[in-house]
Amino acid sequence: MMDLKKFSKKSRTEIKSMQEKENFRRDFIGNLAHELKTPLFTSQSYLLTLIDGALKDEQVNLKYLKIAEKAIERLIFIVKDLDLITQLETEGLKLEKSKFNIISIINNVFEMLELQANKKQISLFLGSKNKILNVNGDQEKIHQVLTNLIENSIKYGKESGTSEVTVEDIVKNKVIIRITDNGNGIKKTHFKRVFERFYRIDNSGSRSSGGSGLGLAIVKHIIDAHNEKIYVESDFGVGSEFSFTLEKSN
Ligand code: ADP
Repeated sequence: MMDLKKFSKKSRTEIKSMQEKENFRRDFIGNLAHELKTPLFTSQSYLLTLIDGALKDEQVNLKYLKIAEKAIERLIFIVKDLDLITQLETEGLKLEKSKFNIISIINNVFEMLELQANKKQISLFLGSKNKILNVNGDQEKIHQVLTNLIENSIKYGKESGTSEVTVEDIVKNKVIIRITDNGNGIKKTHFKRVFERFYRIDNSGSRSSGGSGLGLAIVKHIIDAHNEKIYVESDFGVGSEFSFTLEKSN
């Protein structure tokens, strides 16, 4: 028979954990409603203004339509990310592991993000002597991880700055991939929370750059599913570095 003290301690821990989950759920729904409201109301108010007569005003009609369309685009981003994160959290993440060349994935992401980087005159660098470095993992998911991290380094990087990706050996069978920028940086107090769903640092420009606050939560899920580690290091005002480990393959 379980003694009473133990039983009551166990119940207290369970209640505490349920309360934490409930708080988390409440925060999540609150944040979600807030995130959806802004673009919804923006597009509605511009469309209503057009209906009320602005449609005939050639000075503004195209501009208002474009603003409404941008707001809808943002909604689509949020819903897509939500879809993905729900899938990750309910079904768990099914990895399809294979051997692949991480260097060519990095180059591919660079190509994809080149336009975005050019807009801010940010140079993308690859710091690796090897042209081929094979790793074990889910290629598509790691592609997503690199896209989110490199995209963040551009979004939160400074004009005419740099985003650098390096791949280094650590212990015998592991590599560490670092994504470094010289942007605004992140204060230490935010380090833990940046991986939470919808967590965004005020004044980071996340809203204006169209972020959903889900990118890093998705990244963390994928790295956890690989049983690997992800780290953040940053000097506020100097830059940030996100890094994660992967298993090397021969
Ligand atoms: P978002 O969609 O807002 O970019 P993320 O989950 O990708 O969401 O990132 C969470 C927050 O962490 C961002 O809103 C931003 O404030 C901060 N952040 C992420 N990457 C960087 C970076 N490289 N430099 C500075 N801040 C960053």
